[in-house]
Amino acid sequence: MSTYLFPPPPVPSLPIRGRTERFPVNRIFCVGRNYHAHALEMGKPVDKSAERPFYFTKSPQTLVDSGATVAYPPGTANYHYEMELVLAVGRAGFRVSADNAHEIIFGYGAGLDMTRRDLQLAARDKGRPWDLGKDIEQGSVCSAIVPMEGTVISQGAIALEVNGVTRQSSDVDKLIWNIREIIADLSQFYHLQPGDLIYTGTPEGVGPVVTGDRITGRVDGVAQVSLTIGDPA
Ligand code: MN
Repeated sequence: MSTYLFPPPPVPSLPIRGRTERFPVNRIFCVGRNYHAHALEMGKPVDKSAERPFYFTKSPQTLVDSGATVAYPPGTANYHYEMELVLAVGRAGFRVSADNAHEIIFGYGAGLDMTRRDLQLAARDKGRPWDLGKDIEQGSVCSAIVPMEGTVISQGAIALEVNGVTRQSSDVDKLIWNIREIIADLSQFYHLQPGDLIYTGTPEGVGPVVTGDRITGRVDGVAQVSLTIGDPA
């Protein structure tokens, strides 16, 4: 047994619907610009015939369970929600074909990819990494993982409200790169492992929240997610 200088940090994890065990989270991958209408609102339209998907990562330590109240984060004046379908990987996969992609799927969740939009866009426009804009303490929210082994989700309403007012409303059938294509592409670069999460991208309607706001979102057929924004850290 190894001994450590100080106690290792806890393993990031999420509840699993219907199970007492939690889902231990290994990595968080996020797909950028994966709905045309959102890419357009960001001023960066996507031509699927000429591009491949791109990704950024968020530390698994940024995860919080749905229902949490989190502090408004430091360093931003434009903290945004992004409602997303989250894919949970349950089996290892490297260079997985689109046809075989379902074999590594454990289940899905409903997630929020919280974003310091001001810092993300400043970094983007200077050609700098997005970490300060995206890798935010308590900035990755997810529902319990819903076991749906081998299931490829190809449609279903995805929506988000802030204080009861609808801000995002789309359908997962509008993903530019669908679930099979994301797994096939990402697994060209990574040995996907059990515990990996893939945030599949947000539809249009992203916007800011402030202290006191309550965010509720859902992916029909999967789960709901909620978050309350507390006082500044
Ligand atoms: Mn996102």
